[in-house]
Parts: sequence; structure tokens; C-alpha cells
Amino acid sequence: MSLVVGSIAFDTIKNIHGKRERIVGGSSTYYAYAASLFENPKVVGVVGEDFPEEIIGEMGDRGIDTKGIETEKGKTFFWEGEYSDDFSERTSLKTELNVFEHFNPKIPDDYKEEKIVFLANIAPELQQKVIEQTGKDRYFIMDTMNLWINISREKLMETIKSVNGIIINDEEAKMLTGEHYLFEAAKQIKSLGPEFVLIKKGEHGSMLYFEDKFFVLPPYPKEVVIDPTGAGDSYAGGFVGFLNNEDKINALSLKKGMVYGTIVSSFTIEDFGIERLRKLKREDVENRLKEYKEMINF
Ligand code: AMP
Repeated sequence: MSLVVGSIAFDTIKNIHGKRERIVGGSSTYYAYAASLFENPKVVGVVGEDFPEEIIGEMGDRGIDTKGIETEKGKTFFWEGEYSDDFSERTSLKTELNVFEHFNPKIPDDYKEEKIVFLANIAPELQQKVIEQTGKDRYFIMDTMNLWINISREKLMETIKSVNGIIINDEEAKMLTGEHYLFEAAKQIKSLGPEFVLIKKGEHGSMLYFEDKFFVLPPYPKEVVIDPTGAGDSYAGGFVGFLNNEDKINALSLKKGMVYGTIVSSFTIEDFGIERLRKLKREDVENRLKEYKEMINF
């Protein structure tokens, strides 16, 4: 099973289709809903007393292990974001850490054997605390965001050095390296330490750099995007969730994982927040996968 450490949040999201206030979000929430289509992910995180118990219950019903989610006095992490009308840009309007401010991830003892540890988007120093607690022989895959590249670059570099793989979006890859050509950016990030670099390119698909080779996948074509929030985290959930069940992490399993990430995230963007993921079944994923296979077959 995989272990994820990341944010569990309330989000306010504004885009061309409307505004949703204080809906459930967070990097590990999206990850866990997506990964639970394949396995029983374990979540370590913190929520405030205002977080709905029914969501924790629903996670449990989906096979997500929520024992590592602590409830602290105070308010849940809050993030507000606004998208440009063509979704090409996202502005973070508010980030209120609340209970997250003093979050010190504690990995339960029976969570320390998990094959893959996904370090979802949180401060790089917290990601490092997880690496220290779980021991170096896990397979670590990390995510990050522009905020940490801006304010915590050095710590972020240290984390990148200690992980096996990194999943990052195109803008972040460019910011991190100062390189505009993505193939070159991927090579540079790999030279920092990880054995694979996976770059998500939104509506342009995703690409992998592993063992000195590139692999590029198109997206599943969606004409209408309702809300891209969490697409990256649910891509990671589909990718790692699938990988968790494979005997070996190699070029083939990484590529197949990318296909699942692509398909799962194409559902996330069909509705605001986690709404589409809450209803999603493995069968829906497999049906769309058949269509996707036909699309890329030549
Ligand atoms: P994504 O669209 O995949 O990049 O992820 C969106 C999620 O990231 C939202 O649900 C937010 O709650 C969460 N998020 C935004 N800013 C942060 C942050 N600074 N730390 C952790 N999670 C965040």
C-alpha cells in the first residue's frame, strides 16, 4: 500500500464556471481518492475541528486508511485560488495554514513498511521529516509547488536529492531550473538526484524522463473543463496507486502508471473539487482507458 503525507484542506475556487466556497480539497485528499481506485492508501495529515467527519468516514468506506489523520484544535488549512478564463493561469489568493502551521507529521509504526511513500505538496522540511521517520529504503515520490520553489528553494533541493522520483508540473519545472525547454528541464532535475522525473503539462499531457529516455503521453481529450484543481494530485494518485500493485518499478510500469494518472485526472476536472472522484469507480476508469488506447493506437 502507499503512504501519503500532504494537505487536507478547505478550498475556495473561482473560475469561469462559478465559485465554490470552502469545499473539501487538499493535495493528499485528491491523491487518496484517486489511489483508492487501485489500493488502500494510508494518509497522514492534520485537520481542524471544523473538518466534516462524514468525509473522513467516506474515505474509510473507500478503503482509505485514515488512522494517520489527526484532528487538532483550530481551523483546517484553507486555500483560495482563481483561474484565468482559459485555465492557463492560477493565482493563489489566500493560503491560511491554520492547524497546518504546527503540523509535525507522525508516521504510525504500522505505516512504516509501505512500499511507496508519496510526499504530496507540503513544505519541503515536512517532506524531509517523513523521509527521516520512514527510513531510506522506501520508494519516495514527491510533488511540490511554485510557493516552495520561491520561498524554500534550498530545502526543496535537499528533498529532491533524497527521493526516487518527482512529479512536477511544467511551470514548476521551468521555475526550478530556469530552463524553458522542458526536455532540458527534465534532464536537469534528474541530475539533482531522482531516478525519474515526471512532468505534467495540463492539457498537453505528461512526459517521463527515466534511464536517459523520454516517454511522452497525450492527455485524454476533454473539451470542457469544469475545475482543474486537484488534477495534478489525482494524476499522482492514479500513477502511484497503480504502481503500488506492480512487482517492479521499471520503465514499463512507470509508463502504465502514467496512463492511469492521465485517465483518473481526466475525471477530476469534470466537476468542482473532489465531487467527480467521490462517484468514480474503477470500472469507469477501465472503460475510458479502452477509449484512450484506441485513440493512441496507430
Ligand atoms: P493541484 O491542483 O493538483 O495543484 O492541487 C490543488 C490542491 O493543493 C488544493 O486542494 C489546495 O488545498 C492544495 N494546496 C494549495 N496550496 C497549498 C500549499 N501551500 N500546501 C499544501 N497544499 C496546498
